[in-house]
Amino acid sequence: MRPEILFPLFKPVTNLKGIGPRIAKLIERVAGPNVVDLIWHLPREIVDRSFSPGIKDAPAGRIVTLTVTVEKHVPSGHSRRPYRVRCSNASGKLTLIFFHAREDYLRRELPEGEERVISGTIEHYRNEVQMTHPDYILSPAEAASMPKVEPVYPLTAGLTLKTLGKAVRASLDILPDLPEWQDGAYLKQQKWPSWHDAVIAAHAPDAAAKLEPDEPARARLAFDELLANQLALALIRARMKRRPGRTIEGSGELRRRVQDALPFTLTNSQTQALDEIYQDMAEAGAMLRLLQGDVGSGKTVVALFAMLDAVECGGQAALMAPTEILARQHLATIEPLAEAGGIRIAILTGRDKGAARKKILAALQDGTIDIVVGTHALFQEAVEFKNLMMAVIDEQHRFGVHQRLDLAAKGKGIDVLVMTATPIPRTLLLTAYGDLESSRLTEKPAGRKPVDTRTVPAERLDEVVSAVARALEGPARIFWVCPLVEESEVIDLAAAEDRHRELKARFGDVVELVHGRMKGPQKDAAMARFAEGPARILVATTVIEVGVDIPEATIMVVEHAERFGLAQLHQLRGRIGRGGDKSTCLLIYTPPLTEAAKARLEILRETEDGFHIAEEDLRLRGGGELLGTRQSGLPEFRLADLAMHEELLAAARDDAKLILDRDPELKGARGAALRTLLYLFERDAAVVNLRSG
Ligand code: ADP
Ligand code: MG
Repeated sequence: MRPEILFPLFKPVTNLKGIGPRIAKLIERVAGPNVVDLIWHLPREIVDRSFSPGIKDAPAGRIVTLTVTVEKHVPSGHSRRPYRVRCSNASGKLTLIFFHAREDYLRRELPEGEERVISGTIEHYRNEVQMTHPDYILSPAEAASMPKVEPVYPLTAGLTLKTLGKAVRASLDILPDLPEWQDGAYLKQQKWPSWHDAVIAAHAPDAAAKLEPDEPARARLAFDELLANQLALALIRARMKRRPGRTIEGSGELRRRVQDALPFTLTNSQTQALDEIYQDMAEAGAMLRLLQGDVGSGKTVVALFAMLDAVECGGQAALMAPTEILARQHLATIEPLAEAGGIRIAILTGRDKGAARKKILAALQDGTIDIVVGTHALFQEAVEFKNLMMAVIDEQHRFGVHQRLDLAAKGKGIDVLVMTATPIPRTLLLTAYGDLESSRLTEKPAGRKPVDTRTVPAERLDEVVSAVARALEGPARIFWVCPLVEESEVIDLAAAEDRHRELKARFGDVVELVHGRMKGPQKDAAMARFAEGPARILVATTVIEVGVDIPEATIMVVEHAERFGLAQLHQLRGRIGRGGDKSTCLLIYTPPLTEAAKARLEILRETEDGFHIAEEDLRLRGGGELLGTRQSGLPEFRLADLAMHEELLAAARDDAKLILDRDPELKGARGAALRTLLYLFERDAAVVNLRSG
C-alpha cells in the first residue's frame, strides 16, 4: 500500500485549486494526470524580465519589461478586430493588443493618463511596436511583486505558461516533507538539499545555470529517481535469487552427441558464454543471465546447448521468440541437432489450434516433449509443463525484460536466459536490468566476410536496380526493405507494394513481397519461397528485421535509410553476410540529410561492431531522446538524463546493493523511507515483491 503521506501527490490534478477538467487534459498531455507529474515537470528555460530596453530598440520576439504611460484606448468596434491601447514613454510608442477584450476590465487595469509597468513579448507589425496580451500589467507601486526571473515549462497547444505555472505552483503548495531516504553523509558530501527543498529549488531557477543537470537540486532529484530504479531492480533480483533454484548439471553426454552433429565448431565466445551459463545452472539459486550477441553471432546454438543440460537432468526447456517467423527459424536451426541427440522437440505458437494444439499441450504436460520452441503464447496461456527447468527468452531488439523478471519470479525456480541481439550500452543495461549477470558474444562465426556498406542518394535508384540485375546472374538473394513508419502504415505499405510491382515488372516472378499486415501462413509461405526458391528478391517492410537467417542473401537494399535508427539499420544489415560470399548493403537516402542522419549513415559505413554502434547510438540520441524509448521497453526517466548522469547511475547501483546488504527487507527507519521513495517513483511492483517475499 502506498504510504498515506503520498496520497495528495497521486490525486488527479483537478484536485488542485483552479484546475478544471479542460486544463487537466492539457496538463496530462505534457506532464501526466496526477499532481506528482506536475512536480516532476521541471522548467526547461527561464524568462528574464529584467531586460528593459528603449521601445524603439526592443527586438521582436524578446520578453521585455517597460514602464509606459497609457495614452488612449481604441476599442475595436468589431468583435473580430483587436482592442488597442496606445502607450508611450520617452523612448517611443507601444501598442497593446487584446483579442476578445472586455472594455470595462481593460479601462480599470489601464487607466488613460496613468503610468503602468508592462511585461511581455515584443512584436513588430507594419511600423508599430506591439505587445499582444502582456504577461503583466502592474502599477508602479506593484511592480516589485513581479518575479524578475520565471521558469518556462514545456507546453502544449492550448496550454499557456501562465496557466501551467499556476498549476505547478499549486502542486508545490501541497508538497509534503518526506522522510529522508538518502544517506546523510552522502547528502552532506554532495551538498544536496532535502527532497522537499530540491523540488522547490528545481522549480525556481534564478539563472540559466540553475537548469544544468549537475546543479544540486536537479542532481539530487535525478539520483532519487535512479536509486528508485536500481533499488527496484535489485529487489526483484534478490527475490529471484531466493527462489529455491535447482542444481542443473549434465553429464556432458547429450552435449557430446549434439556436438558431433554440429557442422561447425563453436567460437571461443560461444564456449566461454556456455561455461558461464553452465556455472550459473549448476548453482543452487535460480539463474537469470543475459546473453548479448550481435545478429549472426550464434546465440541460438548457445541456447540449445544450455537447454541440453536441463533435458539431461530430466527436465524440460522452453525457447520463446518474439515472432512467429523467428520461432520457426529457431526450430529449423535446433531441430536437426536436437534429433541427433535423441531429444523430442515441438513448436507451439498462437497459430496452432484445435486437435494439434491439444496434442502438444498434452505432451508438454506428460513430459513427452523435452524442448518446446514458441512465441509468447508459451507463457501467457494455460500451458502446463511436467517439469520446466529452463526458459530461454529471445528478446532480439526489445528490452522488455521487466515483465519477464516478474514472470520468472512467479515461476517455479526455473533458470532463465535472456538473449538480446542489440548490444546494449553499459548505462542502459544497468537501468533496464540492474546489475544483471551477462555474457557477450563478441566474435562472429569463422568464415564471415565483412559487409561492404554504401550510401546512395535516391536519385540514383536506377544504379541500384542495375546492380541487382547483375547480382541476379549469380546465386545472390536480395533483401529490399521499404520502411514502415507506424503513423502512416497504409501509405508505407502502398510504397512497398508499388516497389514490389515495379521490381516484378523488371525481374519477373522472382520478386516476393512480405509485410506486417499479412497473415501468418501467407507470410511464412512468402519467406519460404525466398529462403528456398524460387524467389530471389524479397521486398519487405521491416518485418524481416528480427533474426531471419538466409545464408545466400548477399544484398541488402534499404530505402529511406535516413528514417531508420542506427540499431535498426545495423540489425537489417546483419541479415546478410551470413554465408561465405561477399555481401553488399546499399543504404538509399533522400536528401537533404539532417546532421544526425548523416552521422548515423557514416557510422554504419565505418564499422560493423555492434557494441560500438550501440554506444554511438546512445551518444547521438542523447539522454533526452531516450525518453522516446517506450516501444523499446527501456525504462523512462523524467529527472535523470542518462547521457549526463552516468556517474550518478553507478553510485545508485552501489548504493542499492549496500542498502539491501544491510537491510534486505527494508525494515529499518531508512528502509521505511526507501519504501516511500519506491512508491514516489511508482516502482510499486518492487515493494509488493518485497512484502510477499
Ligand atoms: P543470432 O545470434 O543472430 O541468433 P544465429 O544463432 O541465428 O545467430 O546463428 C546464425 C548462423 O550462424 C546460423 O546459421 C548458425 O547455425 C550459424 N552458426 C552459429 N554458430 C556458429 C559457429 N560457431 N560457426 C559457424 N556457424 C555458426
Ligand atoms: Mg537468433
